[in-house]
Amino acid sequence: MIVIKAEDKVFRVYSDLLSRQSSIFRDMLAMPQSDEVEKIDGHPYVEVQDSASDMEMFLNTLQGVRDWETERVSYPAFLSAVVRLSIKYDVPALRRRAVRHLTSIWPTELEGWKLEHTESRRETGSYIFKIVRECDLRALLPSAFYIHCEINDNASLPSPISEDPADITRCAFDRQRIMDRWRRLVYETISEECPSYSWTSCQQARLAWFTGNSLPRLLFDGSKAWHDYLSVPTGEWLRDVGDLCSDCQAALRQRVDRTKKRVWSDLPVFFHLPSWNVLLEEFNAHVQG
Ligand SMILES: [Zn+2]
Repeated sequence: MIVIKAEDKVFRVYSDLLSRQSSIFRDMLAMPQSDEVEKIDGHPYVEVQDSASDMEMFLNTLQGVRDWETERVSYPAFLSAVVRLSIKYDVPALRRRAVRHLTSIWPTELEGWKLEHTESRRETGSYIFKIVRECDLRALLPSAFYIHCEINDNASLPSPISEDPADITRCAFDRQRIMDRWRRLVYETISEECPSYSWTSCQQARLAWFTGNSLPRLLFDGSKAWHDYLSVPTGEWLRDVGDLCSDCQAALRQRVDRTKKRVWSDLPVFFHLPSWNVLLEEFNAHVQG
């Protein structure tokens, strides 16, 4: 038995169980212990710098007391603790499982991203910044910065998901480059030439679409510095197209899908991070290694 103290809380854990799963605790327990070593109830005693709640979630998971499925209420907090501490204390089996679970609530691919609800993403986002700051999991950052772009125009977010003021500044500037991509989509759509019908009727329909559909309009009326266009279903861009011919509609649909893919694939570039390939390679080392 070993006693672990985190903040004002003590945890009693079987030494065998800890040494079997964590090389860090194994080394700690293997160190020769003199008689002067502080003991609690006759058991060796270790004080850690982690928070008591993090340690509790981590140890409970390690001992099989808590399971993933029962942690729905505080899922991001729980997952964040297990990911960070399983990396810190080198518990490979738990780390692989936890990081994999993390991608199920914080996808690194566009398809998974669109399914997530914005509110839950904001809540999870604050934990993501914490995880990334402590562990080498930068593949979670592009989308975390993306969510953080929802700061208001005074850059005073009611509930910032990153505590670092530099992140707020970064998002306030870099989000304009993302919005420019969507503006380019609208320029291209407006100036496109119709391949099949008369140029005039499709051109009129395009102008009606530009003033009637709120998505292109919002990009130019200066009322909003940011809008999460990645989460907008493609079909919403096709509203108010009036008499736009089917070819032009298909072209618009394709352009929206292409822009989404490009915005996603360039997210690391927008936020001055290494490419997705580099980030994912780093990330996968935690899932496989
Ligand atoms: Zn047309």
